[in-house]
Amino acid sequence: MTETTLAAPHTPADLPTRIQHYIDGAFVDSADGDTFDVLEPVTNRTYLQAAAGKKADVDAAVAAARRAFTDGPWPRMLPRERSRVLHRIADLVESRDARLAELESFDSGLPITQALGQARRAAENFRFFADLIVAQTDDAFKVPGRQLNYVNRKPIGVAGLITPWNTPFMLESWKLGPALATGNTVVLKPAEFTPLSASLWAGIFEEAGLPAGVFNLVNGLGEEAGDALVKHPDVPLISFTGESSTGQLIFANAAPHLKGLSMELGGKSPAIVFEDADLEAAVDATIFGVFSLNGERCTAGSRILVQRSIYDGFVERYAAQATRVKVGYPHDPETEVGALVHPEHFAKVMSYVELGKSEGRLVAGGGRPEGFAEGNFVAPTVFADVPPTARIFQEEIFGPVVAITPFDTDAEALALANDTKYGLAAYLWTNDLTRAHNFSQAIEAGMVWLNSNNVRDLRTPFGGVKASGLGHEGGYRSIDFYTDQQAVHITL
Ligand code: NAD
Repeated sequence: MTETTLAAPHTPADLPTRIQHYIDGAFVDSADGDTFDVLEPVTNRTYLQAAAGKKADVDAAVAAARRAFTDGPWPRMLPRERSRVLHRIADLVESRDARLAELESFDSGLPITQALGQARRAAENFRFFADLIVAQTDDAFKVPGRQLNYVNRKPIGVAGLITPWNTPFMLESWKLGPALATGNTVVLKPAEFTPLSASLWAGIFEEAGLPAGVFNLVNGLGEEAGDALVKHPDVPLISFTGESSTGQLIFANAAPHLKGLSMELGGKSPAIVFEDADLEAAVDATIFGVFSLNGERCTAGSRILVQRSIYDGFVERYAAQATRVKVGYPHDPETEVGALVHPEHFAKVMSYVELGKSEGRLVAGGGRPEGFAEGNFVAPTVFADVPPTARIFQEEIFGPVVAITPFDTDAEALALANDTKYGLAAYLWTNDLTRAHNFSQAIEAGMVWLNSNNVRDLRTPFGGVKASGLGHEGGYRSIDFYTDQQAVHITL
């Protein structure tokens, strides 16, 4: 049985009662005065109203960002000057990490200890790009006696940033950091389930000295505010993180304008455990890989493929460990799995839990944890013997639910690993060096972690293949996305 904690739900002090847009350096309501409800996931009660942005609000935000780009100082500042502002942003984010984490945990249901890590990572993202633009070099080529050719790198304009509700503040920083560092101006449309932490950016940016109009925020529904941003002719770049189906729609809607698109989409990532693996490390990491961040993680290792010779022992050990994962209130430091973000998402995850009972063998969890009669709590759930034809093997569940499947040979493991439409991450556990490299290189995944937890090196490309995305974020790939590299040719 899953353990539970019995602390009372916690409400942060000084919660706002409404959230506005932030356009041209000022907080404003929607032009039509419309709002939408924001719920917290422990009781699902509405705790505030957020401005519901429409086309008129997006138009105003884009116009402000466009003015800041064409007439303002930001794109014309020296990299070192922009870098100083970004470092101040990072320091401010870090100095507020306790408050940020408290709000993020309250709004999204993330365990507080894991929310604290997100605020620190957001600060690191700003520091990373602040340093990168100062160190940035570009190519020059000489054709002796004839020509000198060089690359003139320049910001592109207004970047539209559309982000999901999982680890929202940190994921927003992945886009804000490089977009601003390279001299663009931005309009951010955060996820409607979790607008609370995004509302803190404006104060942080103002205090750090970012000029008005460079950062603009429009809250609202994807089909309204998000859609208007994607279709706006003065927004040449859209950086999107979210579901693959939303990505497809955005792709189509951006096509008439031939926009630059960065797409970080869904996943159903395999963790493959071979018989020669360090079993204890593999069990610990694969437990963390799917149950941390409530399983609401794009790179979750939500399919575990285990070699048959160790399969029964692995399943038994895994199920026992999953049962010990502590479900609890998000603010409790003991909690390892909190509440899922929203009742709609909870219903979706629970429908997969029910489906799994007919598609596989339930060995842990399987519903609400004991002691949590309300709120979006799901016990860490493990299904064994899941065939590749099962929907719980093929479809992204995005919750604390994992499917375990046996395999016999390397070839079978590879075929199973690649047998989904997704290709975001993969995790390999083996001590055979040759197999490790051959397998890593053959797998259809944008990122592979070998005998490793999911840790992020900001210099490496982050992104997926197949239905998991297009393009990469991270390091110079982000710099390239947010800049145009103009070639200038001079006759000597
Ligand atoms: P979602 O696609 O429902 O929404 C993401 C954002 O898009 C939200 O801000 C939403 O309002 C907006 N949106 C929705 N419809 C839109 C439209 N028609 N036009 C413009 N914008 C629109 O995704 P979600 O449920 O918020 O997030 C979970 C998904 O995100 C999962 O699939 C997860 O795997 C994925 N994700 C991927 C990564 C990655 O790096 N690959 C990271 C985190 C999350």
